[in-house]
Amino acid sequence: MYRAAGACSKAPVGAHNLRSNQNRRKKQGWRMTKHAMVIAGGGPTGMMLAAELALANVDVAIVERRPDHVLVGSRAGGFHSRTIEVLDQRGVADRFLAEGQVAQAAMIGSTVLDMSDFPTRHPYALGIWQNQIERIMAAWVAELPVRIYYGSEVMGFAQDDTGVDVELSDGQSMRAQYLVGCDGGRSVIRRAAGIEFPGWDATRSNLIAEVEVTEEPPRGIRHDATGVHGIHRLEDGRTERVIVTEQQLGPSSEPTLRDLSDALIAVYGTDFGIHSPTWISRFTDMTRQAAAYRAGRVLLAGDSAHVHYPAGGQGLSLGVQDAVNLGWKLAQVVNGTSPESLLDTYQEERHPVAARALQHTMAQGVLQRPDDRIKALVDMVSELALMDEPRKRLAGIISGLDIHYDLGAGHPLLGRRMADLDLATTAGPLRVFTLLHDAKPVLLDLGEPGGFDIAPWAGRVQLIDAEYVGPWELPVLGAVSAPTAVLIRPDGYVAWVGEGTDTGLRDALTTWFGTP
Ligand SMILES: Cc1cc2nc3c(=O)[nH]c(=O)nc-3n(C[C@H](O)[C@H](O)[C@H](O)COP(=O)(O)OP(=O)(O)OC[C@H]3O[C@@H](n4cnc5c(N)ncnc54)[C@H](O)[C@@H]3O)c2cc1C
Repeated sequence: MYRAAGACSKAPVGAHNLRSNQNRRKKQGWRMTKHAMVIAGGGPTGMMLAAELALANVDVAIVERRPDHVLVGSRAGGFHSRTIEVLDQRGVADRFLAEGQVAQAAMIGSTVLDMSDFPTRHPYALGIWQNQIERIMAAWVAELPVRIYYGSEVMGFAQDDTGVDVELSDGQSMRAQYLVGCDGGRSVIRRAAGIEFPGWDATRSNLIAEVEVTEEPPRGIRHDATGVHGIHRLEDGRTERVIVTEQQLGPSSEPTLRDLSDALIAVYGTDFGIHSPTWISRFTDMTRQAAAYRAGRVLLAGDSAHVHYPAGGQGLSLGVQDAVNLGWKLAQVVNGTSPESLLDTYQEERHPVAARALQHTMAQGVLQRPDDRIKALVDMVSELALMDEPRKRLAGIISGLDIHYDLGAGHPLLGRRMADLDLATTAGPLRVFTLLHDAKPVLLDLGEPGGFDIAPWAGRVQLIDAEYVGPWELPVLGAVSAPTAVLIRPDGYVAWVGEGTDTGLRDALTTWFGTP
C-alpha cells in the first residue's frame, strides 16, 4: 500500500501491511467493497468522468472527502466554448446555460478576443460560479448509476496485475480494476503513485474571499505592478467577492481575515471594513504538470495532473475535457472491447493540450502585472491580438476549439472536434451532438445510403445515413473540403474521414473500438 508522503502518513506503507490488515479484517468478517472503477475526488473532473463511465455502463464509484457536493466559496467563474460543447454532446449544456451568462471572455492581457464569428453553436464563454457548476453536475450524476461515498478520503492504494486496492480514511478498502485520481492539485494519488510533478514554483499569490464590507468599494478589475485585483458584488447583493494579489508570496498556511485586510490596504489604501468572511483562500501561480498521466492501473485527470495560475480561466475546462477523453477509453478497456494500450492515447492526446494551456497561463500571468516595461508589451500584444489571424489563433487556444489530437496525416478534420451540424435524415432533422448523448461512437455516412458495412462493430458503433448541405468550416482553420463520411469518437473527435471510399475505415474502427 502506498500512501502520499506528507498527506496522511509520513512514509509509504509496505504492501505486506495491506495484506496483514486484510487478513485481520477477513477474520473480523469485514468485506471489501468492489467497483469496476473508483474515482478519488468528486470535483468537476471526477463527476464528469463518473458520468462518462456510467453512460458506458461501467460500475463506477466516487470517493469524495467533502460531506456532500456543496463547494464553499464561488471559486472558478465559468468555462469556455469547447466545454459548453462537450456538455452539449451529452445533452446537458442547457442546464448550465440556464443559470449562467454567456460572454466574450477569452482574453490576452486585458484585450477581449471576440470569437462570436467562430463556427460553433456556442461562440462564447459561460460565466457561472464553480459552486453552481458542481451543484448542476451533482444533480446530473445523481440521475446516473454512480455510487458516491461522501465524507470519505482516499489515503493510498496498492495495485497488482488485476486491480487496485484503495485505502480509505475509515480504515476500509475498495477493490477496483482502475483508480483515477481526480483529487485536485495536491493529489494524494499522484504522490502515492510516485509520479513526478515538474514545473515552476510560485512567484506570487492571491487571496480570494467572500466577505461583507462597511464601506462601498470600487468594483471591477484593477491591474498594477503587483498583479491583478478585483472586487465584485455577488448575486445576494450583500457579499463581495474579493481577489487581491499579495505584496509578497504568501505562506502555504490558511489565510486569515487579517491577511486579507493587509493585502487590501496595500493596494486600495483601505480594507473597506471587511467582516463576516464565508470563505478565504489563497492561490498562486505555481505551474506544474504530471510527467505521466498513468502508472499502471492508476491514472490522473484534472488539477491532479496540471496546476497553473487561473489567468484565462482554463483549469476547469481542461479537467472536464480530460475526463471526456479518458472516460470512453477506460470504459472500453474495463468492458473488454479494447486492449489496455488504448489508455496510452489518453496521455498522448491530453498532455500536449495541458502543456500548451500552461504556457498560455504563464504568459497571461506576466501580462497581468503591468509595470511600465510590461505595459509596453501588453500594448503591443493587444495591438496584435486585435488583428484577425492572431485573434483567431489565441481564441482557438483559450476556447479549446482548436484542439487537434495527432491521429496522423489526412483530411484537416482528422483528430479535430466534429461540429454540431444540422443533418437531414429519413427520420427528420437531427443535430450531430444528439447522436453523442449516450457517449457512443458514430459513423456518419453523408454519401449514398448503404455505402458502409460495419456489421462486425454493430452494437458498438452507430451507423447513421444523413445529408448535410451547409459549409464545412473549422475554428481558426476556416473552410475545408466536404467529407463523404466521418467516424466520430464518443468524445466528439473525428477518428476517420471518408473521401469517397472506405479506405482506412476498418483500421480506424479496430484502433478505436476494438477488434470485431
Ligand atoms: C480563484 C480561482 C479561480 C479560478 N477560476 C477558474 C475559471 O474561471 N475557469 C476555470 O476553468 N478554472 C478556474 N479555476 C481552476 C478550477 O477551480 C480548477 O481547475 C478545477 O476546480 C479543477 O477541478 P478538479 O475536479 O480537477 O479538482 P478540484 O476541483 O480540486 O476537485 C478535487 C476534489 O477532490 C476531493 N479530494 C481531494 N483529495 C481527496 C482524497 N484524498 N480523497 C477523496 N477526495 C479528495 C476534493 O474535496 C475535491 O472535491 C480557478 C481556481 C481558483 C482557485
